[in-house]
Formats: sequence, C-alpha cells, structure tokens
Amino acid sequence: MTDTLSSKNLAFKFAQLDKRGRRALDSLAPRPQDLCSTNPQSEPVMESKTSALTDSVIAELPTIKGSDVAVVFDRAREIGKAWAATDIRERKRLVLSFVDTLLKEYEAVLDIIQWENGKNRGSAYEEVYDVAMNSRYYALHAERILRSKSVAGAVPVLTKTQINFVPKGVVGIISPWNYPLTLAASDAIAAIMAGNSIVLKPDSQTPFSALAIKALMERAGLPRNLFQVVIGSGRELGGPMIENANYIMFTGSSQTGRTIARQSGEKLIGFSAELGGKNAMIIRADAPVERAAAGAVKACFSSSGQLCISMERIYIHKDIWDRFVPAFLKRVKEMKLEASMDWKADIGPLINDAQVEKVAEHINDAVAKGAKVLAGGHLVPEVSNRAFLPTVLTDVTPDMKVFGEETFGPLVSLYKVDSDEQALSLVNATNYGLNSAIWSDDLKIAQSMAIRVEAGTVNINDGYAAAWGSIHAPSGGFKDSGLSHRHGVEGLVKYTDVQTVATQRLMHIGAPKWLGEKAWAKVLHTYLRAQRRFDL
Ligand code: NAD
Repeated sequence: MTDTLSSKNLAFKFAQLDKRGRRALDSLAPRPQDLCSTNPQSEPVMESKTSALTDSVIAELPTIKGSDVAVVFDRAREIGKAWAATDIRERKRLVLSFVDTLLKEYEAVLDIIQWENGKNRGSAYEEVYDVAMNSRYYALHAERILRSKSVAGAVPVLTKTQINFVPKGVVGIISPWNYPLTLAASDAIAAIMAGNSIVLKPDSQTPFSALAIKALMERAGLPRNLFQVVIGSGRELGGPMIENANYIMFTGSSQTGRTIARQSGEKLIGFSAELGGKNAMIIRADAPVERAAAGAVKACFSSSGQLCISMERIYIHKDIWDRFVPAFLKRVKEMKLEASMDWKADIGPLINDAQVEKVAEHINDAVAKGAKVLAGGHLVPEVSNRAFLPTVLTDVTPDMKVFGEETFGPLVSLYKVDSDEQALSLVNATNYGLNSAIWSDDLKIAQSMAIRVEAGTVNINDGYAAAWGSIHAPSGGFKDSGLSHRHGVEGLVKYTDVQTVATQRLMHIGAPKWLGEKAWAKVLHTYLRAQRRFDL
C-alpha cells in the first residue's frame, strides 16, 4: 500500500486563480502527499472544486471510494498507537506550535476559507480565532483534565480507587461546509490532545480548509498523517467510517445526524452530534435598543446566516417594538454585500445554488401566505449569482415554512409579543434547541428566564459569541439539535474511555468464611444505617 498519489495524477487547475490565490493554495494545501489514496495503480476519480466566491475552478481533487476507507483507518490506528504513548506535555508543545503556525499563516488561511465558502473576511477570521482559542485551551488544560484521579473507594481505607482516561483510538470526524476550518480543526485538536488519531471527512464543497489544517499541523511538527483527510461523498464514506472508527464526531443536519446515530448505535461506538437549529432571540421591554439591534444584526447574518447558532427568530416585546425594529432595520439595510476578499464586506455570497433556492423558497412561501418583507428579499446578481441580501420578515404565521424549518441563510422573522412568558413559550415551541439569546437591562430577570429556555446555550446581551467563545463551558444542543458536547471538560473526556482501577488492600470484599453470609450482611446493614444517620 502506498499512502500518496503521484503528482502526475493531481491535475490541479490553478490557472484561473490570481497570484494571491496560487500563493495561498501553494503554501498550504493541497500537497499530493496530503491526499489519501490507497490504490495508486488505478486512476483516481477526480472532482472539480469551484470557488463559492469567484465561481472559478480552484482545483481538481481525487476522491476516495468507500472500499478504501479501511486502509486509511488502519494507517491511523498504527500512527495513533505511538501518539497515545506520547507524553501529554509533548502533545501540548506540538499543539501550541500548531497555533503559532496558524497565526503566522492566517491571511492565506482566510483566503482559502473565503474562496471555498464565499463568506466575508470578518466571518472567516472568526474561524481562525476559534481554532486558535480552542487549541490553546485544550493544549493548556488537557493534562489536568485527563490526569488519573483518585476517588473514594468501595471500602474506606481498604480500597484505593483511581479513574483513568484511555484514548479511544481513531476518531472519525464528519464535518459540514459552513465553518470549514473550525469544524475540521477544533474537534480534532481536542481528540488529538486526548491521544487519538483522526480521519476527517469534510464536506465535498470545502476540502481545502481541512487540507490547510493538515499542512499546518504537520508543519508545526505533529506526526505526519496523525490527521488524515478523506474526500468523497458522505453517503458513500459515512458507513465505512463508522465501521472502522472508535468514535464518531458529526456536525451537520439533524436528518443526517439520525442516520449516523443509527449506524453508530448498531456498531456500539460513541457518537457526538452537533446538529441544526431554529435559534431565537428575546428582546425584553427594557432591552438596550442600540446594543441589542447591533448584536441582533451580527447574530442573524454572520457568515451570511449560514451559522448553526445564528438567529432566525426574534421575539420583541410590544413596548419596545417601535424603537427596536427601526434601529435593527437601519443596520440591516446598511450592510455591505460583496464578493470580495477585503475586510469591508459585512456579508458574502451563499455557498451554492441549493442554499439560494432554500432562502428564496422560504421567502416566497411566506409572502404568498401574507408575510411582509421589511428588508432585502432578493439576490443582487451584479455582486454574484448567490449574493442574497440580508432579509427581514414580519407577520409570519405557523403555516409558513420559515416559521418552524431551519433556513440556514440570511433570513430572520420578527414577532411582536405581549410578555416574557409568551416569548419564552414561543422560543421553546420547536423541536430544536441549539442557541438562544435574551436582551435586557435586568440581568437577574434575564438569568432566571435563561434557565427556562430549552437550548444548549443561552446568551444574555449577546447573540452567540459570548456562549460559543466561553471555551471552558460545554456547548451542545437540546432536543433535535444534538447529542453530547464540544468545548470544556465534556468536549475532551468524550474522546476517551473512562476506566476505573480499584486496588483492594488486606482482604477482598465479601463475607469472610469465619463470619458467614448472615453476619456479614448485618455488618453491611449497620454500615448503611450509620451512613444515613451521620450523613456519610
Ligand atoms: P449535512 O448533514 O447534509 O452534511 C454534513 C456532513 O455530513 C457533510 O460532510 C456530508 O458529506 C456528510 N454526510 C451527508 N450524508 C451523510 C451520510 N448519509 N453519512 C455520513 N455522512 C454524510 O449538513 P449540511 O446541510 O451540509 O450542513 C448544514 C447543517 O449543519 C445545518 O442544519 C446546520 O445547522 C448544521 N450545523 C450544525 C452545527 C452545530 O455545531 N450544531 C455546526 C454547523 C452546522
């Protein structure tokens, strides 16, 4: 088996890229040796990748077949054994060096993210920031979190009990296109710090950010192929990945999440899912209007609304409606929609035509049933065929698609409410439960409302970045929005098997022959009573 392709087979088509584009891709991704192939004898199936920003072909990349996935995992398992035995302080050194390398190369990384995804540069930078913060957190804290811990044993003094955290082995990661850098790197780094090797399947539309991460990791000194990237269709590669992985980390739609959950359940391997949402924001009557309006714009339209935690519903108290809505609309209408790689654009084109159709379908369906468009509502073809204006609807009713379905685009609906109670019950009236926000001057009331919101993260006086950026705290969905968590202790420990080692001193646990079962039961019973009495 050879693990590389010959460069002859890699018909990169950089021709349509400008100088800057060539530099970014040449310096970071893809190198022939970064691409997984298991059968260099046969011609690989090449797939053409088109830029969501410029519509030009970025390159052709070889895809992998489902039948080749096992070989990639075998290689990962071999590499993973040495990695699991590597001292955690050395893992920390290498991951911190990865952060330094990323920060040095960040402009080229931003070019790659923008190219393949189309998002504006400011939103792309959030990805770099996230990967750096995540990696640093796990590099600095993994040793403490994963250190073997002593706990009270079965018999005081006589039982010494220790908890160990054993790496799972090979973690398979399946990621979507919307945050191609963050979702390729941040979960992987946690798993790597826990001593695992990685096989990542990025979405076929955005393989370059994942390949850039691989290049940066290896440049920083992490072992070659500790992080491997397989490119191909999710339907074809998903099954074989689950068949071969020791743990699956999935980010994507709730529908695909269910399929992967079934397959992982059958295989009895751990599975973590970060899924869709229909996220909602509450504007209380006492909300700081200007701050809330600015925060809402960011929360609705970052990454062109193609952010899993972005807001698609805003519930506004009737007493503040006339002040909040104009302030919000003014800001939405001022947003710069551009397909450019400078820092001036507030919002960029959508990733593909299907996303455009989905947004248009939700708007058209709503308008046909009586909704009103307060801002945006259409494409701007002079910018790009996928440049959709940030759009605001009102008078939305339950019979409209946009009411309950995730749009995953630059579209938000405004609802007037009479009370906090009504707002809370409408926020919770969905099968999703990913992210939410409450704006209020009264933090006590907002915090007491937050605990009643059925969502994994609740931001008070922010839209999403406050909770998402709190890396020490777990982040995950309630209800159909997910299983398990990323970030914090939970986001690391899930990549380990937790083992208990109990060492018994002097005598084993059980009735001594000279005492007999009945007397032994009496001793235990007395102990239980004492526990109750003295609150032991
Ligand atoms: P998707 O489920 O269609 O695809 C996600 C990934 O799964 C891709 O890599 C795809 O190739 C792969 N895939 C598709 N079918 C598969 C199968 N049968 N087996 C294995 N893999 C398969 O999701 P999408 O539409 O591309 O992404 C957008 C969705 O992701 C939205 O619903 C969004 O809310 C969600 N999302 C959630 C989070 C989060 O953290 N909760 C983050 C980003 C995106």
